[in-house]
Amino acid sequence: MSKLIDDMYVYDAHCHLESLKDKSTKPRILAVAATELNDGLKLARYRQNNPLAKIGIGVHPWYIQSNLTLDLITEKLETAILKYQPDFIGETGLEKLKPEFDLQQEIFHIHLQLAQKYNLPVVIHCVRAYNELLAILSKFTSLRGMVHAYNANSETAKQLAKKNMLLGIGSIILNESSQLSKSIEKIPLEQLLIESDAPYMPYGAKEFSSSGDCILYAKQLAENKKINLTEIISKVNQNFITLFNSAVTR
Ligand SMILES: [Zn+2]
Repeated sequence: MSKLIDDMYVYDAHCHLESLKDKSTKPRILAVAATELNDGLKLARYRQNNPLAKIGIGVHPWYIQSNLTLDLITEKLETAILKYQPDFIGETGLEKLKPEFDLQQEIFHIHLQLAQKYNLPVVIHCVRAYNELLAILSKFTSLRGMVHAYNANSETAKQLAKKNMLLGIGSIILNESSQLSKSIEKIPLEQLLIESDAPYMPYGAKEFSSSGDCILYAKQLAENKKINLTEIISKVNQNFITLFNSAVTR
């Protein structure tokens, strides 16, 4: 693997299948999250062709189906976990200004229960709901995972570290007035991952993002933290391996 991947290659800790349509022959080290309940088959096929990819099973809070009962959602998720043997649970989480916040919390709770049951890391989406996130996480004793597109202060980062949560750093780091940019100096590199969230969250005027953008975020992180780029990349890649490779072997 080390011969195929150069030192400046940043592992993408969070992206989506919609960004991976090209037929690249280069090995890709990335974690591809599900957005909908039925994404399992497509993701499993992707991993078959790209064995270095990690895949998730989960329902993004924008795509929860309020017509399904909680029991049925649990059953569908568990069936997909057993069938496709994902490397992590996600994307799941909370977004305060989106509809049905109570239901979002219940469904998020189901994902966390399954992550704990199958000893899998969980990939969390959290927008304007860090207090609720911490409250739900406090009900669990043995979870680990990442909060993707982290954008909050260093105190919240510290609380999340106590819950074994790493933080995904993406295009928000390029915005110097973001909460993240203001707090990043105080957040230890041991807690950080780099992610594209491709094809979403592009930077500048770009229409879509891609995993290749991760190098730019790593450079910005190096600048903000005054640490050299090779050290940044080596550490975030190591954090990726620790988080996703420690999943139950398939
Ligand atoms: Zn995402």
